[in-house]
Amino acid sequence: MLVPLKELLEDADKHRYAVGSFNTPNLETLRAVVAAAEETGRPVTLNHAQPHEAVIPVEEIAPLMLKYARESKVPMSVHIDHGQTELFVNKAVRLGFTSIMYDCSGLPFEENVRRVKAFVDMVHPLGITVEAELGQMLLNTADGGSEDGNTKADFYTDPQQAATFCELTGVDALAITFGTVHGVYDTPPTLDIERLKEIREKVDGRAALVMHGGSGTPADQVKEAVLNGIRKINYFSAMDVAPAPELLKTIQKAEGKPVHYADLSFMVTQIIREKCIEAIKMFESVRL
Ligand SMILES: [Zn+2]
Repeated sequence: MLVPLKELLEDADKHRYAVGSFNTPNLETLRAVVAAAEETGRPVTLNHAQPHEAVIPVEEIAPLMLKYARESKVPMSVHIDHGQTELFVNKAVRLGFTSIMYDCSGLPFEENVRRVKAFVDMVHPLGITVEAELGQMLLNTADGGSEDGNTKADFYTDPQQAATFCELTGVDALAITFGTVHGVYDTPPTLDIERLKEIREKVDGRAALVMHGGSGTPADQVKEAVLNGIRKINYFSAMDVAPAPELLKTIQKAEGKPVHYADLSFMVTQIIREKCIEAIKMFESVRL
């Protein structure tokens, strides 16, 4: 069934787990995530990220995401991940998304507040859950450094600023940075759990805390993050890169004989499903 993300986050907080939040930019991944959710009996969010517009436009994938969520036996939210422009997030409202991340984290704090607050005020009456981001998450680099010499930690979310942001915007969920990055890790990350604890204390339940870059984060650190208040984990890269080695093996084994794409596509769905089940179980490992 299709539900607002807020409902899922409240249940996650009550029972101490993190809702798995998975991007579904094609039918194989969409079917795999839905199958994984039904098999485990756990709620998930089906995500379309604005950066995936080049892979499939939201107008094409949204009706399918909504159909699978509505017909699912478990609660699901259909979510926009990293919506970056006003035009795009407004389009998502019209298409029926039940939660939307409006990511203005690249803008100055005041502008982030201004845009997110205006969006929250517009869509809360429609029952849509809003996620925002504070702090900047870098893309996968081994040391997490950036060209201008800043280290990864320079971009971490400031606890007091997070509290002020939630207070001023009324946002439902806040993606914070404390050690994860987007993409595939060269070396596993070390999460700054002390910072997470401080953020949780300052935010004090005004918004649910979200961790992006869940792929490749060691299970014991995911557990610590959930124990300390992370209630939604975005996870995609690890699922997305899982099928390629198996496909390669299958194609090589055929030794030049025809390989059916339908068979490969089916194989992809099964591999992603297994990866997704693994992630859901990890996010539930300290559930009450
Ligand atoms: Zn993200």
